[in-house]
Amino acid sequence: RRRKRLTADEYAQGILAGDRIILSRAITLIESALPEDNELAETVLEKVLPQTGNSLRIGITGVPGVGKSTFIESFGKQLTSIGKKVAVLTVDPSSQLSKGSILGDKTRMEELAHDPLAYIRPSASGSALGGVNAKTRESMLLCEAAGFEAIIIETVGVGQSETTVHGLVDFFLLLMLAGAGDELQGIKRGIMEMADTIAITKADGDNLKQSKMAQREYKNALHLFPPSETEWYPKVLTCSSLEKTGLDKIWETIVEYESHMKTKGFFNRKRQKQNLNWMHETIHQQLEQRFYHHPAVNKQMSTMEQDVMNGEQVAIKAAKQLLELYFKS
Ligand code: GDP
Repeated sequence: RRRKRLTADEYAQGILAGDRIILSRAITLIESALPEDNELAETVLEKVLPQTGNSLRIGITGVPGVGKSTFIESFGKQLTSIGKKVAVLTVDPSSQLSKGSILGDKTRMEELAHDPLAYIRPSASGSALGGVNAKTRESMLLCEAAGFEAIIIETVGVGQSETTVHGLVDFFLLLMLAGAGDELQGIKRGIMEMADTIAITKADGDNLKQSKMAQREYKNALHLFPPSETEWYPKVLTCSSLEKTGLDKIWETIVEYESHMKTKGFFNRKRQKQNLNWMHETIHQQLEQRFYHHPAVNKQMSTMEQDVMNGEQVAIKAAKQLLELYFKS
């Protein structure tokens, strides 16, 4: 049933040649829970690494229903119409927790999915070892090696996923609805602070006037935030994915942002910091994984857990004893 296993070189050559089937298989390898798959994926990644880093990485977030998939479809088409190769990756925290997925609808972005310049990859379902962050980052790098010039990483505005995506991208776009009132649709202040631009969606028809009002409100709200050291002032724009208005302005803003950040030297500095975080996160994950899989630790774990629950052992002492077991051998 299994397809013939490709070698790391075959994977790397296929990816660099822009072969989508091989790219997809390589991402599956990254998302695999099997250690031997991960090892192969790591070798592939190493081989293509010199060809990565040349895309513009764009994060997009917003609550369910704000219009993310409609936006990415229209915006993606806008980019492919000017000849840009676009890859779309999704980070869906719900698929980590349950089999169900908020972003999992297969009919999403159908038009873009059939565009020869576009590649869409839904997020891994199930509990992937190594965390969403690492898997998505690695998938993003493979897409870059395959020649995609704009990588859009989409996430639902819930949980920790925005922070995760913010740590992966160059530009973070927050989509918001007009007329949602003061409480900002459950979007926390911290997420607004992460945004490099806010776009009010569905600015069309009866909604147009309200969208312009919301634009002014959010502009005022952003003024209250302390200016960032990059001296980039987040913009508030409006758009309609159905009428395809305002999308060109959003792309212009992203290009302007890129040039601003590059001129000031912040573009690379941000990526350098993200790389450092990637290293540290990998260390954390590996340590944790190895600790829990360590035979001596494994053997003692359930007894210790029982003891802690029964109050026969203090939690911190139990933890130290287990750590001792790990570091002793
Ligand atoms: P997501 O959950 O954030 O991915 O949102 P969807 O893209 O699925 O959109 C949610 C709903 O809003 C759908 O019924 C869309 O048709 C509608 N919608 C999305 N974009 C627009 C827009 O630009 N204008 C209008 N009027 N409706 C839109």
